[in-house]
Order: sequence, then structure tokens, then C-alpha cells
Amino acid sequence: MSSSTSLSRSQTHTTRGIPSKCWCGSNLTTFAAQTKENLYRRFYRCEIAIKRQSEHHLFKWIDEAIIDEIRMVDKKVTHLQSDFESFKTTTTIRLHEHGRHIDESLLEMKKIFQDQTILLEELRNKSTLVLDAKSHSPLLNVAAAAIALGTLAWLYAKITSI
Ligand SMILES: [Zn+2]
Repeated sequence: MSSSTSLSRSQTHTTRGIPSKCWCGSNLTTFAAQTKENLYRRFYRCEIAIKRQSEHHLFKWIDEAIIDEIRMVDKKVTHLQSDFESFKTTTTIRLHEHGRHIDESLLEMKKIFQDQTILLEELRNKSTLVLDAKSHSPLLNVAAAAIALGTLAWLYAKITSI
């Protein structure tokens, strides 16, 4: 670790947060200032900058870099929080819509089942009169099964189309 007596603040570039490399591509080292106003205050600088003091290389006080970094992280956290809130709101609305859609489908299905039960009852009564038989017609059972199957297919299509 070496020290610097003259600190050039004429920076042409600005860095955000804690810097990892100098603009020249060199790795950074930490040094302690030797000036009266900043005695022992630590800063980031590359080795080249220490050797060639006339050149403009990255300079950043460590305490300022840390505060900068904390502000950046804070901003990111705030963004994440607002993203999460909007995601939560959107998901709640969508779930609510899905639930409503399913409720409507179930009500519709219930109504269709009632209608079909009435229809089947009428058919059964008619066929009993025509056939004059007490046994159930196998054709009627097949018809009932086909209607029930059709209703289930319709319900499935309705729910999956949400
Ligand atoms: Zn450099």
C-alpha cells in the first residue's frame, strides 16, 4: 500500500457505486490520502495512476463509494417491492376472474342438468306409455349417458378456455 500526496479531482468519467476496475482496465487498489484536509481518508485508485500522476484515472473516495452503493441497492429494493406489489395485484385480479368464470360455468352446467333431467323424465314417461313396459329402455340409458358426456365435454372446454 502506497500513498498519494496530490489528488486530482478533475474526473472526466463518473462511476456509480463501488468501482471494480479503473477506466484503463487495471484493477483498483485502496490508498490512504496524505493531504492535510483528508489525512488517512481512503480512496480507490489503480497502480498506473499512482506512477503516472499527470494521467486521468479513476478516483473515488471509499466512504462515498459505499454510500453510493447503498443508495443503488436501496433503489433496486424499492423497484423490486413495487414490481412485487403490481404482480400481487394482477394475480389477485386474475384469480378472482377465473373463480367467477368457474362459478358461472357451474351454474350454467347445473341449469343444463336440470333441463336434461326434465327432458329425460318426459322421454321416459312417453316410452313407458308406448312400450307399455316397466323395465327401463336400454336406448334411454344410452341417451342419458351421451347427454351427460356431452355436458362434461362442454364444461371442460369452457373451463380450459379461460
Ligand atoms: Zn487506471
